[in-house]
Amino acid sequence: MASSCVDIHTHKRKGGAIEMLSLMADSEPLCEEAPCSLGIHPWHAGNRDVEAALERIATDPVQAIGEIGLDSCCPVDRSLQETLFRQQLVIAERRRLPVVLHTVRAFDRTMHILADYVLPGVIFHGFIGSAQQIGQGVRAGYFFSFGFRSLQSPRTVEALRALPADRLFLETDDAPEPVDRLYRKVSELLLCPEEQLRETIYENYLRLFGI
Ligand SMILES: [Zn+2]
Repeated sequence: MASSCVDIHTHKRKGGAIEMLSLMADSEPLCEEAPCSLGIHPWHAGNRDVEAALERIATDPVQAIGEIGLDSCCPVDRSLQETLFRQQLVIAERRRLPVVLHTVRAFDRTMHILADYVLPGVIFHGFIGSAQQIGQGVRAGYFFSFGFRSLQSPRTVEALRALPADRLFLETDDAPEPVDRLYRKVSELLLCPEEQLRETIYENYLRLFGI
């Protein structure tokens, strides 16, 4: 059933699914029709209006904080990124909200930082990485979300196969394709009926967001 199809991370509403809309706290208004995550992306850690954006993150009625995290491939100073990441984790901890993470070549450091906070949920979005990293994250109770780009990496497909279904999410992020196509593709890769995949991910969503 299309209604139980969850797209855990997208920047644009596409319809036909339960979409978690990811908004940039320094510019975008909330959307009333979709569950929202709000955060300051690590690429914007050096922006001037960070303080005002943090205030928004501390108060706006959202379902998650994100996307936030560390990106080793962007030119923004690492210590600035880390400070901002921690500031937002403090808010998530205080508000008891799950976090949606943007992590590029910074998995170990991210895991190390996360251990300092008590969070109701952690989702590594657009995951590209190894089965060994999945193992580490699963032991810590975290979730992993895969998009079209994740599936282009054979190593990441191996990691996807190693992930217990109760920690899995799917997302379209910036891809123009509808989320249904991704469900079909992943159901083939996992040899799991599409309907079952939808139900499992929907249950993950309910469990994490307590809706
Ligand atoms: Zn994104």
